[in-house]
Parts: sequence; structure tokens; C-alpha cells
Amino acid sequence: MEKIIIPSRLQMLIGGEWVDANNKDSLSVINPANAQEITTVPLAAKEDIDIAVDSAQQAFENDTLTPAERGQLLHKVADLLERDKEYLMHLESLDNGKPFDKAAYDVDSCIHHFRYYAGWTTKIHGDQIPVSSPNKLVYTRKEPLGVVGLIVPWNFPLMMSVWKVAPALACGNTCILKPAEQTPLTALHLGKLIMEAGFPKGYFNVVTGTGAITGEAITRHQKVAKISFTGSTDVGKKIMVAAAESNLKKVSLELGGKSPNIVFDDADIDQVIESVVWSSFYNSGQECTLGSRLYIHEKVYDQVLKGLIDKTSQLSIGKGIDSPDLGPLISETQMNRVLNYIELGKKEAKLEFGGHRLEGDLKEGYFVSPTIFSHQNDDLKIVQEEIFGPVVVVSSFKDEEEIIQRANHSIFGLAAALWTKDVSKAHRVAHQIQSGTVWINGYDMFDPSVPFGGYKQSGNGREMGKSAIDLYTQEKAVWLSL
Ligand code: NDP
Repeated sequence: MEKIIIPSRLQMLIGGEWVDANNKDSLSVINPANAQEITTVPLAAKEDIDIAVDSAQQAFENDTLTPAERGQLLHKVADLLERDKEYLMHLESLDNGKPFDKAAYDVDSCIHHFRYYAGWTTKIHGDQIPVSSPNKLVYTRKEPLGVVGLIVPWNFPLMMSVWKVAPALACGNTCILKPAEQTPLTALHLGKLIMEAGFPKGYFNVVTGTGAITGEAITRHQKVAKISFTGSTDVGKKIMVAAAESNLKKVSLELGGKSPNIVFDDADIDQVIESVVWSSFYNSGQECTLGSRLYIHEKVYDQVLKGLIDKTSQLSIGKGIDSPDLGPLISETQMNRVLNYIELGKKEAKLEFGGHRLEGDLKEGYFVSPTIFSHQNDDLKIVQEEIFGPVVVVSSFKDEEEIIQRANHSIFGLAAALWTKDVSKAHRVAHQIQSGTVWINGYDMFDPSVPFGGYKQSGNGREMGKSAIDLYTQEKAVWLSL
């Protein structure tokens, strides 16, 4: 594909129109591979959010789409994503630094999501309930919530948006999507495609800006019925407070993780070594499900650690657009945050590989080498806190009882993986791990039909599958005396 041209100034989508912020404020969008400005986007303030919410509220109140028509429109969005797949891959790669070829997975997953929820629109219904009192007809309805605020992070900008947008629209809500300030480009293009598909004006709005100004205005808005948020645990807590202090809007949260990746001595070690390099460093470690705590049975510890170091040393690192194995981190702030953790790790654990910023041709961008630490102390900060960069901490264990206790020693509970050929042990351990997802003999397996979300401080609510229908609807019981 030819080089794409992005205008030097972009607008946001409110009420079906492309607009600037009312006060004309804007934000720079930076390419993390070279720290150059790609474009600018509006910085939406409270008055812009008021207009967006009013137009979404009007679209909700005037909605005449039947479930089947909504399904057709969602299929149309999927068709348009297919048409613009390469363009979206380019945008994601420039804006987020994601390796170009890996951005294909993200866009494919979005297409799959829209088609999956297109199928749901005609199957969202309540029940007829045979109550004990005589002469009563009781049934339930699954009704949309109204205007929903969707706030997403920068690590999978398009995919995290679509995980929320597709089920929210399928259920008949109208949406205000706020992408992260670092990565608004694919969300804005998604707005174009949703309008092109034929959704009525105001149904879908994309507002750009910062969390502190734009995000806060959405989370505190009296007419927003629900917030669906993905991001850090700290901001998740702020959103719950904002919801409580405004209108008690519903809140679902997909937050951080520090996922244990457990290798038993009876695992297929070649398969493990092929996988752990990706589960430790995929997306340059900027992934909520990253297998950032690697636990290896003592009998195979040396073999797996050596294999991981060998594979890591072969990873290519570069600008996303050149399709390397790993791209840059998202921003200077994030790079410095990760480098601070690495310096801390050098004091509290043993550095096995990496541990520095990359120089040479990559010195303009935010590149950090994949880094491996080993330790035997689960209370270390680098073992307990989410680093969100290419850093894995590795430790050995002796038996099943020990590893279950250590795996659960975390404030997080988003995902976990275990590797063994013993089927009974696999299920026994999977049932005792405190996390929303457990993968056995694989990692990062996802499907739109399978619920995803966190235990403990990794969040509440489940995205994807039938669970997301519950997130974006409310149930009404209707009683009739016959
Ligand atoms: P944040 O949690 O701050 O950002 C996620 C989204 O929330 C962004 O759209 C952000 O806006 C918005 N936001 C920020 N503050 C508020 C607020 N007060 N009200 C409403 N919305 C808000 O993530 P960071 O970018 O700060 O990353 C920091 C750390 O968070 C990472 O190092 C990582 O540990 C974790 N993280 C986890 C993610 C996950 O998938 N679980 C994803 C991203 C980060 P804006 O960006 O415009 O400020």
C-alpha cells in the first residue's frame, strides 16, 4: 500500500458532524517511533461533552431502528472495516507504534466482533415467568441503557474501542467514545465508517481529549447512563467515585493485570519456549494480560530460562511500520515509567537480559529492550506492580500447592496460564487460580463469544460473549393482572 497521508489537523465526531472543540483547544498526536507530531486533534471540554451527550440522547429517544436493521448496519460496519483494513493497520502502526503485520490481527478481531454482535441484535429478549400468584402474566424485557460513555486506553486502540462499541450498539444504546489522548486516529476512522454504514446522526460520537478534562466530563455527566472503561486500576477507582458522586451511573471496568504464567515440569518444553517469548513481550509488554510473572518448575527452570533468553535475543525491534517483532513504547512518560521499574529491578532482583533504552537508529523513539529478571521473592515491587512494558520476572517453584498460593498472591486477577500434559492437574489448578481467564497450554486465546474480565482489582463486569449483552442492557419486569 502507498504511504498514507494524514491531514495536519483532524476534527472529532459530534452529532454526525466533524467539529473542533468549542474553545479551539487541541492536542498533538505523536509518532512514538520518532517523537514527531503526526497531526492534532481537538481537546474536548465539558461544553463539547454536553453537546455530544445531548445529541446522543436525542438519537436514543428518536431511535426507530429495528433489531434486524441494527444487525444489518453492524454487518455493514464489518464490511467497511474489511475494505479499510490496510489503512487502519497503517494508522495503528503510526499512532501506537504497533508492528504493522500484528495490527492485522487487531483489525481482524474487530471485524469478527462486529459480525458476532450483528448476530445478537435479534436475540436480545426477556423471559415469560410463571409466578406463583394466580391470574398474573409476568414477562421481562431487556432494554438499552441510553447514552453510554466508552473510555479506552492506548495499547490496543481500535480493538479496545470495538470490544465496547459493537455490543453497545447491538443493544440499542447510543455512544460517546473517548480514545486515549495518545491514540485517537483509528477511533476517528471508526466514527467515519459507522456514519458511512448508515447509523443515524448522534448515534455514535467520538470525542478526543485528555482523561482529566474530556474523560472526567463524561464520567461526571448526569445524562450518561453507563461508563465502560479499560485502563489502569487507579483511573478505574476514580471513575467509580465520579459515578457515585454524579448520577450513580453503571460502571464496568477492565483494569490492570500481573498474570502468572506457570510451567510444570511435565509440559511440552519446546512449545513453552516458543510461546513464553510472546506472552512475556507481545505488544512491547503493553498488554493487560501480559504473562509478566513467569513461574517455572525447578526441574525445568534452567532449560526454560535459557530458551527464553535465546529467543528474546533474536527478537527484532524497530518502527512499527517496518513490521519488527517489537515496536516502541507509547510515549516518553511510559518509557520513563518502565525504565524506572527496570532500575528498581536491578537493585531488588537479578537481571538476566536487557535492561536499557535502545540507542543508535532508534534513539529518537521510545524503545526499551525486552528485559528478564529472576527472583525468589514475590513481595518485590517489580513482581507485584503492573509495569506495562517489555519486562518479565521469572521464578522457580517446587510443587502444585506452592504455585497456587504464589500465583494468587496479587491484587490483580485478570488472566493466568498453565502448561502441563496432566489433564487432571490442569483443571485442578485452573479452578483454584483467582482470575477471570485461565489458558491451558496456550496464551492470549480470545474469541468474541468468550467472556473476558477480571477478578479482584482487575475490574468488574465481563466484556465479550453473552455477558456483554448484560453489560449494555437493563432488565424490566412487566406484571399484568389477567
Ligand atoms: P489510564 O488508565 O490513565 O488511561 C486509560 C483511559 O482513561 C484513557 O482514555 C485516559 O485518557 C482515560 N482517563 C484518564 N484519567 C481519567 C479520568 N480521571 N476520568 C476519565 N477518564 C480518564 O492509563 P495511562 O495511559 O495513564 O497508563 C498508565 C498505566 O495504566 C500503564 O502503565 C498501565 O499500567 C495501566 N494501563 C492499563 C491498561 C489495561 O489495558 N489494563 C491500558 C492502559 C494503561 P487520556 O489517555 O486521554 O488521558
